[in-house]
Amino acid sequence: MIKGSSTSQRQKAAASPDGKLLSDERSEIIHQAVRDNRSYLMEHESKEILEGAGIATTGYLVARSEDEALALCEKIGFPVVMKIVSPDVVHKSDAGGVRLNLQSADDVRKAYRGMMDAFKYQHIEGITIQRMAAPGIEAIIGVTRDPSFGPLIMFGLGGVFVEVLRDVSFRILPITEKDAAEMIEEIRGSDILKGYRGRPVDLQSLQQLLLKISRLIEENPEIHELDLNPLFLYSEGYIAVDARMFVREPAQTETTATGAKNLHDFFYPKSIAVIGASDVKGKLGYNVFCNLVSHGYPGKLYPINPGKETVMGVRAYKSIRDVPDPVDLAIVIVPAKAAEAAIEDCCTKGVRFVVVEAAGFAESGKEGKEAQARIEAVIRKHGCRVLGPNCSGVINTHHNMVQSIGLLGDLKKGNVGMVAQAGVYAAGILTGLSNVLDFGIVATIGNKMDINETDILEYLSDDDHISVIVMYMEDIRSGKRFVDVASRAALRKPVIVLKSGRTEAGKKAVSSHTASLAGDDEVNNAAFKQSGVIRARDNEHLFALTRAFSKQPIPKGNGVMVITYTGSLGVAATDMLYLSGMRLAELEPYFQQRLKNALPEFANIGNPIDCSFSMTPEQVKNLIEIGVESGDVQSFIVVIQGEILGSFVDVMKSIDYKEKPAACVVACKEFMIHDVVKMEQAGFPVYSTAEMAAEVLGQMYAYGVRRRSAMTDSIARHLTKDTLSVDNMPVRLRLINPKDIALWTDFVNSCSPKSLWLRFLSPFSATPERAQRFCNVNPEEEVALVAEARMGDQHKFLGIARLIKNKRCEGEAEYAIIISDPWQNKSLGITLSEQCIELAKKEGYKTIRAETLQENYAMIRIFRRCAFNFDGKDENMVSMTLNLS
Ligand code: ADP
Ligand code: MG
Repeated sequence: MIKGSSTSQRQKAAASPDGKLLSDERSEIIHQAVRDNRSYLMEHESKEILEGAGIATTGYLVARSEDEALALCEKIGFPVVMKIVSPDVVHKSDAGGVRLNLQSADDVRKAYRGMMDAFKYQHIEGITIQRMAAPGIEAIIGVTRDPSFGPLIMFGLGGVFVEVLRDVSFRILPITEKDAAEMIEEIRGSDILKGYRGRPVDLQSLQQLLLKISRLIEENPEIHELDLNPLFLYSEGYIAVDARMFVREPAQTETTATGAKNLHDFFYPKSIAVIGASDVKGKLGYNVFCNLVSHGYPGKLYPINPGKETVMGVRAYKSIRDVPDPVDLAIVIVPAKAAEAAIEDCCTKGVRFVVVEAAGFAESGKEGKEAQARIEAVIRKHGCRVLGPNCSGVINTHHNMVQSIGLLGDLKKGNVGMVAQAGVYAAGILTGLSNVLDFGIVATIGNKMDINETDILEYLSDDDHISVIVMYMEDIRSGKRFVDVASRAALRKPVIVLKSGRTEAGKKAVSSHTASLAGDDEVNNAAFKQSGVIRARDNEHLFALTRAFSKQPIPKGNGVMVITYTGSLGVAATDMLYLSGMRLAELEPYFQQRLKNALPEFANIGNPIDCSFSMTPEQVKNLIEIGVESGDVQSFIVVIQGEILGSFVDVMKSIDYKEKPAACVVACKEFMIHDVVKMEQAGFPVYSTAEMAAEVLGQMYAYGVRRRSAMTDSIARHLTKDTLSVDNMPVRLRLINPKDIALWTDFVNSCSPKSLWLRFLSPFSATPERAQRFCNVNPEEEVALVAEARMGDQHKFLGIARLIKNKRCEGEAEYAIIISDPWQNKSLGITLSEQCIELAKKEGYKTIRAETLQENYAMIRIFRRCAFNFDGKDENMVSMTLNLS
């Protein structure tokens, strides 16, 4: 009986000489089928392609006669499986075309005759004879295509898990190793794979299999869909038991995406013409122009109105062509018929950006669609970028620019950037939230004939005034580019999306099993997860998240201090914290004593800290200040009684939180709205349920973790050397990570007191807190590179080098290095330092500064070898710098 693919089998699966997974011969199977107009590849053909790509299957031999069948069995050995090979039979076992566990020549003959008889009215190519796979955990992997996102990969457990529970995960192809790991982790049944009952499956080879499929599809776009159903997973390896593919001529890849080349001037235009500006109150052209004037737009304004000399006292022109100066941006707010000509005029004049607020285009039927198509052709010809039509323009409070169709009152400058489809929605939010949330840029995209949500997202991620991006989306245009852009944006700032999960039935031609499981919402979800975008359930959740991200820093750890006046809300918060990947912080004994002193006798000093009805602002301040100092507390939830909320605002504001976030909970807050607004304006999001506060903190923390890990990965990719040999021993260079606590502790313990003294300039020992701190590096502030050797089964650190951002000196990193005593003077220090210098350059540092004791000759020698310059001397310290520019 065959087991899974062993390691040697897996290694055999090397790529063909030109680096492609499939040899020319193998890919010819696909091309031929496409040429013959055959869309369905039978099991044996599919498996031959899979084997060619290094994927283990039960085999693909086909017998055309009974004798041939027997001969093949001899070759494979019993027991065998026989299956019908016919282009007309897609579901073989349903049709009686699968015979399992055949033990003898006799069994095989009987099965052969039986199948020939049963399928005598169908076209039969033969019978596949394959190995009988040992039972394993059944899984399914599939590929299907989405009109917007392109190819998708699916993973799930087989049988009822997929059929009934639809327990599957999706990702947009191609995937990374991390995506593959997350796909496996994400299914509800993942504990089964990890050995919940019995032995765990070989997750490593499953992950590699997903990556191989990803490559196979990338290199062979003719493979339209694919099902490996089932796949057996083993504690070592896996085997594909059944396979089918659907092939076709690859679709032309979309090339219309013009990209957000540079939308800066679109958001910060120096001059604006308003075509259709009017003096007549109630007209949309009045509203738009009035908004620009009343909010103090700082650039030049040109009202365009053929019947007027001036509009609101500003000189008007008959046509944009009459404006003597260059115009950066034009807003078109005239009826659709006139709009077409106006846009053409803008193009002729050389206006680079046009905002079409006029309606009556693609959203309004056939004629409008045609008009929109004509406009599109014109703007493409002139390279003009257009927002809309049928939108409400852009608001940029940092440029005092309000282009909205509805009259808007005062807006404060804020750090939230928002993309919305519809103007009415955006206006509602702006007005509704204007007391508690300040926006920076709001863009409404309307019909998105040209500029779409992804272009704006790309720009917002670059704008330094914006630190949170909110997107309200109805559909995603060119999903593939969205994933690309969103992945990069989410590394810089949180991107929160509210997407209605509409299912457009019938949009996809469903052929494979995978396709039937890939509903629009599953695909959107996959895209959001893959790119690190946070998906909000509804408007309420969206604003809860936005307020927190906009007002508070991201928690650096998952320990939370909950302060409450009632035990029940403390419990509610606690439950949700644990469900959201957070936990209650455990205060160090010293801090517990301080808590005791800060509270009345009867109070409960555990965490949640229940101050009961006597809770006062001063008490809360004391408690928070203790929490700020504790290493395990990284965020706060403060549950406050509504009636006395007002008395907490100033005190809450006066605390130095040292970059640890705090959220408030006020039950029934909608009835104490006056004080809630005050508290929000003081910078603290207020939630009406403890659950919401806990969930939001959890999502902020998860965002921070993801961002750190993605940043660390991207730094790691800049290492030019990751293996070297020291004393004939292989040494690996890599970034330190939170799992290295034991290795770090061993390393410190193995260093001599002198080496530690020279590095830390004071006696130093490995405490758990220090291990935590030194292994949990914030990639925005620090890079820690380790040299790791493998000695038999054991791993060991030989040296650690650190670059730490100097917060007081822009562009400068401080550098420190320690090599364990037996490995000093073996050029390891120089190699580590060279790599750190490379990383510092890539990270954009201009100088590296190192300070060490005068008697640290070994270190000074390393610095000199790396071309550091002697900088100065202070008592017994030497300071050296390296200029990177
Ligand atoms: P279908 O076209 O109906 O999907 P399959 O090839 O998947 O046919 O076979 C049906 C079932 O038979 C599989 O789900 C699997 O449980 C079992 N089976 C098929 N081939 C083998 C094999 N080579 N070894 C072990 N079991 C097999
Ligand atoms: Mg099957």
